[in-house]
Amino acid sequence: MQQHDTQELRQQDSRHHLHPFTDTKELGDNSRIITRAEGIYIYDSEGNRILDAMAGLWCVNLGYGRQELVDAAQQQMQELPYYNNFFKTAHPPAIKLAKKLTELAPEHINHVFFTGSGSESNDTVVRMVRRYWQLKGQPEKTVIIGRRNGYHGSTVAGASLGGMAPMHEQGGPMLPDIEHIAQPYWFGEGREMDPQEFGLLAARSLEQKIKTLGVERVAAFIAEPVQGAGGVIIPPESYWPEIQRICDHYGILLIADEVICGFGRVGQWFGSQHFNIKPDLMPIAKGLSSGYLPIGGVLVGDRVADLLIEQGGEFYHGFTYSGHPACAAVALRNLELLEQEGVIDRVRDVTGPYFARQWATLASHPLVGEARSLGLLGALELVADKGTMARFAPGIGSQCRDNCFQSGIVMRSVGETMVVSPPLVITEAEIDQLVTLARRSLDLTA
Ligand code: PLP
Repeated sequence: MQQHDTQELRQQDSRHHLHPFTDTKELGDNSRIITRAEGIYIYDSEGNRILDAMAGLWCVNLGYGRQELVDAAQQQMQELPYYNNFFKTAHPPAIKLAKKLTELAPEHINHVFFTGSGSESNDTVVRMVRRYWQLKGQPEKTVIIGRRNGYHGSTVAGASLGGMAPMHEQGGPMLPDIEHIAQPYWFGEGREMDPQEFGLLAARSLEQKIKTLGVERVAAFIAEPVQGAGGVIIPPESYWPEIQRICDHYGILLIADEVICGFGRVGQWFGSQHFNIKPDLMPIAKGLSSGYLPIGGVLVGDRVADLLIEQGGEFYHGFTYSGHPACAAVALRNLELLEQEGVIDRVRDVTGPYFARQWATLASHPLVGEARSLGLLGALELVADKGTMARFAPGIGSQCRDNCFQSGIVMRSVGETMVVSPPLVITEAEIDQLVTLARRSLDLTA
């Protein structure tokens, strides 16, 4: 095992390294240096073991230390470490992965375009959607509607599709022709209403927006089946059927961003299957390779693929690492293991329901206004007063997140919401431990 000098690493980190989504000045030389990981645990340079209830960044679905994935990468790197799929070449890992993905995807999806990340997948979506409407002879249909507080990545297109106000404010003018509607966030924005009525209302804001803009301008609607980075916002049951109805009625494309929900997170291969919707495009990444190597893609439904292929000619789009052989080989092995070990069925039938019951016990904590979950996604709403559900002053979430680390667990804070998304291989005993550590972190915060 490699030895590390923690102080020296911290100083070098602070001097030279700009972390993503981090206030570098506030961080100073206080980084926690993560050096290794096994199963659902990460270890820091000072030897502390920490339960990773975020699966890295919602991605390490198979857990850490899987030799099969290391072997798949090593073998592919020895045989063909790099080649591309541009023009008229292809290589076996990309071809096999494409076949496997389309077998797992809903029936109407038979093609995939590979990328290197979720953000690149959403950039690809913007270009595909606009090309589709050009080819249909309606080039004025350019507007893509996303949601406030949705997250679709950090590239200019990803940040524009997303509805994160601070990203828009810091990024200057974003991509034109992107609009945003309400999010189906019942606890935060609809508690005075029945959840199902609220779900319908939130969905109908899409119809309102289409009418305001004029359907002749609207190309597509994009949303995560469950908003992840926005705070694990699980829509009321009424929401998605109404969204599907509106997309069908107005003939606009439906894009389900499966970057978090894909590959078992909610107990089905894709979140869209849980909510019974039929997206035209599904951006994917993260759990596709359990985060072992970077790879993403867009699953393309027949309606779009057939037109692009038959009438589109060359699609002037692609990345050096589209379908990178080592990443594709690891992703393929990852999918095989998820399947062979019945991981996703277990999330649906065993660990998901068990997690739901145990996580719900946190609702009785004095700081928790709501404890919700779906599959292996969970959220806690922190409140200062359980009677009125009054919120704390800003900063409570990051305080709780720091207390989590002290308690030996990684949870993420989104404003005043604490979220978790543990590896899908978590056992019932480990779920008990996760809940105990989460409770301890809340106690420290109270
Ligand atoms: N889409 C969703 C739903 C995400 O949650 C994320 C990342 O968290 C992205 C896209 C962007 O993915 P990446 O960070 O791989 O670019």
